[in-house]
Amino acid sequence: MIPYGKQEITEDDITSVINVLRSDLITQGPVVEEFENSLAHYCKSRFAVSFNSATSALHAACSALNIGHGDMVWTSPISFVASANCAIYCGAVIDFVDIDPQTYCMSVSALKFKLEEAKTLGILPKVVIPVHLGGNLCDMEAIAILSKSYGFKVIEDASHATGASFDGVQTGSCTHSDITVFSFHPVKNITSGEGGSALTNSSDINSKLKLFRSHGITRDQNEMVNKKDDPCYYEQISLGYNYRLSDIHAALGLSQLKRLNEYIEKRNRIAKNYDSLLKHLPITLQNIPAGTISAFHLYIIRIDRNKVKNDIGLVRKLMRKSGIGVNVHYIPIHLQPFYANLGFKSGDFPESEKYYMEALSLPMYPTLTIEQIEYIAGKLGQALSQ
Ligand SMILES: *Cc1c(COP(=O)(O)O)cnc(C)c1O
Repeated sequence: MIPYGKQEITEDDITSVINVLRSDLITQGPVVEEFENSLAHYCKSRFAVSFNSATSALHAACSALNIGHGDMVWTSPISFVASANCAIYCGAVIDFVDIDPQTYCMSVSALKFKLEEAKTLGILPKVVIPVHLGGNLCDMEAIAILSKSYGFKVIEDASHATGASFDGVQTGSCTHSDITVFSFHPVKNITSGEGGSALTNSSDINSKLKLFRSHGITRDQNEMVNKKDDPCYYEQISLGYNYRLSDIHAALGLSQLKRLNEYIEKRNRIAKNYDSLLKHLPITLQNIPAGTISAFHLYIIRIDRNKVKNDIGLVRKLMRKSGIGVNVHYIPIHLQPFYANLGFKSGDFPESEKYYMEALSLPMYPTLTIEQIEYIAGKLGQALSQ
């Protein structure tokens, strides 16, 4: 089976991890710090705080923006469930903003409309979490303008977008957001095995993220309530978790980060190959707006239901039968039983639901060969014409 995504591990990666195993510190130590510094440097943000997953980083991000019981948080229905769950962990009320039918990211016009409505009702969101679907970027400039006029904070869920940029500005620079979150799960653009990171330019948010990651415990005199002249003294000043990344994981992430630019180039080249091989088929491709360099974590197509006899379920089945591990990103979050129990229902976000009836992610990873791409394109042609 050709999977839809997979990691590449080099001898350098292995050596880098082994070096940590031979050292004295294997949990959070100097390599975590080096990884964080390298990430911040790469993205041109002031701070990067690593976590044991992007899910933990999203949870910490919501907490750092003071999300609490009853606060409103909005995200996109077309995302991994973690984009919404993070707000619920903090006791927030979640709601969704429908997607743009061309970019598959949060629609700015739908956001504007919903904000106007919410303003009249007095239930404006405290935080909005746009999701850079597949590595394509949301219109962050427009979202930032709205955040100022309606007074909400912004967390970019950039789990798919490590290495993406807009007009030369790197995703993660937090130019138009308060916090940006990356994932280093093995299917994502670079991996640390499991892992994630939250980037910010605010030193206040940076301190809150660090406290949240480690039990709310500080060893920094300036943060302490009681100051003691004792090198063993520490204080718990808030409630936190154990969400730390280990040096073992960070060593893999640090080594992979060196190849991120190369990966983005390869993914963009693969996307171009797909584009030209698929252009005669009854499908639509994701619109990547001018100025955006997508990280192409995913290569998503939508079938044209007017021209294709098979429904999407059958197309997905036929592709899997041919040994092609196609997938769907994503089943709309609001249709998941857990969210349906909160009151969401079919019809709430029509563009997202329509997308789900047409979308398919084709295999996309840096080591995918041109022969494999041609094979996949051929099989897709057959699956659509049967
Ligand atoms: C993968 C992913 C996450 C969660 O990442 P983990 O590192 O696995 O916790 C969150 N949001 C999106 C959009 C993702 O794709």
